[in-house]
Amino acid sequence: MKQAMMAALVLGVAVCAMAAPKKTVVVWSEGTAPKNVYPNDINGAIAEGLRASDEMKDWDVVVASLGDPEQGLPDALLAKADVLVWWGHKKHGEVKDELVSKIEKRVKEEGMGFIALHSAHFSKPNKRLMGTPCSFAAYKGDNKETVIKVTAADHPIAKGVAKEFTIANDERYSDPYAAPPAAVTPFGGTHIHKDGVKEESIQGYCWTVGKANYFYFQDGHETNPIFFQPEIRKIMANAVIWAAKK
Ligand code: ZN
Repeated sequence: MKQAMMAALVLGVAVCAMAAPKKTVVVWSEGTAPKNVYPNDINGAIAEGLRASDEMKDWDVVVASLGDPEQGLPDALLAKADVLVWWGHKKHGEVKDELVSKIEKRVKEEGMGFIALHSAHFSKPNKRLMGTPCSFAAYKGDNKETVIKVTAADHPIAKGVAKEFTIANDERYSDPYAAPPAAVTPFGGTHIHKDGVKEESIQGYCWTVGKANYFYFQDGHETNPIFFQPEIRKIMANAVIWAAKK
């Protein structure tokens, strides 16, 4: 009898271990990227990369869009998200303030990681969470490409990323970024303008906001298919894992 009870206990522990809840990342975008560049929008391309990542086999990767019911983030999904990735550009104003307040609470009080990409710098959640204007010194469509350089090789988001690589980038943002001082900037780089002028610019920023890890990545203009590029996919997977609850 005692042996049977012990066996049942051991089995129970094993079942519990197997049933550990998966972590969840929600990749949100507004659905405005050109179809010839991103057939499944930017959230679809990022999610495809995360699902293909060896390090994220035990994650649920959920795609959410502005046009979905409850703007893609019903309470139950937001409540279980460990990380929220946000890309927006033309429709920032359509995001409901009530939803932004829910996101703010999840990030600051409950430690949901947040990742803002490119033009999401002006999104409502990013501005609310940063608490600053979140503007750059300049926005120019005269760029050809950007050389991204790892500037904090020991940071988890830079792990396994090529020290230096080039992306097509039509649109440069110029320093400084009107955001709180970053704890770490794991990626720097050089914008190479069409006329050959080179411009140094910080590409990636990390903060702690409330209880959460927070990452902003400057790149990701909708006419440049960088979210299919292996180096960028590695950065996205690393960032999601890093941003998950501590
Ligand atoms: Zn852009």
